[in-house]
Amino acid sequence: MKIGVIAIQGDVEEHIKALKATLAERGENENGEVIRIKHRGIVSSCDAIVIPGGESTTIGRLMEREGITEELRDAAEEGKPLLGTCAGMILLAKEGDEEVKKTGQPLLGLMDVRVKRNAFGRQRESFEAPLKMSIFDEPFPGVFIRAPCITHAADTVDVLATLDEDDDKMNKRIVAARQGNIMALAFHPELTGDRRIHHYFLDTFL
Ligand code: GLN
Repeated sequence: MKIGVIAIQGDVEEHIKALKATLAERGENENGEVIRIKHRGIVSSCDAIVIPGGESTTIGRLMEREGITEELRDAAEEGKPLLGTCAGMILLAKEGDEEVKKTGQPLLGLMDVRVKRNAFGRQRESFEAPLKMSIFDEPFPGVFIRAPCITHAADTVDVLATLDEDDDKMNKRIVAARQGNIMALAFHPELTGDRRIHHYFLDTFL
C-alpha cells in the first residue's frame, strides 16, 4: 500500500508521521509506504492520497503549476481514496465563498460542497473541541487552526460532524464530510495522537 502526501506546503511531515504510525499499528511496516508528492508523475502510483493543511491558495496554485491538479482529478475518478484536511478540505470543494472567489484560487472541485475559509473568526482562530462524529462512539479531539467549514453540501455528501455557531445553536457548520472515496476534514487529526480517522480512512476506503 502506497500513500502519497501532497508535499508542496503545510503540515506535510505531521501527516507522514501519523500515516507511518497508522501503517505500523496495522502491521503494514513491510508493505506500507508513505511518499511525498511534489511533482507530476507520482500520483498515479499511489493507492491513496492526502492533501494536508496549510495555505490553500499556495497549495492550489503550485499543484496546478506542477500539473498535479489534473492527476488528482483522474485519481478521484478512478475511485482512489483522497483525504483533505483544513486547506485540503477547501481544495477538494466544488465551490468557495466570496473570499475564495476573490482570490481566484484554483479548486479541485471533487466534492459537491461549498466551503468558507477562516470560518471561525479571529477570536477563535485556533481551538480544540471534542467532536461528536457519526463514525465513532467516542468524541474525536478536533484541532482547528484558522479552519474552514462546509456551509452547503449536496444530498450525495455524508455529513460526519458539525459544530454549532457560537451564537446560534440551530446554525451548524459542517466540519467533516465524505462523498464516496473522498473525505474532507476542517480540523487536523495528524496533530493528535488519536489515529482513529487515519484507520477509518484506510479501513473503509482501501
Ligand atoms: N486558513 C487556511 C486557508 O484558507 C487553512 C488553514 C489550515 O490549513 N490550517 O488556506
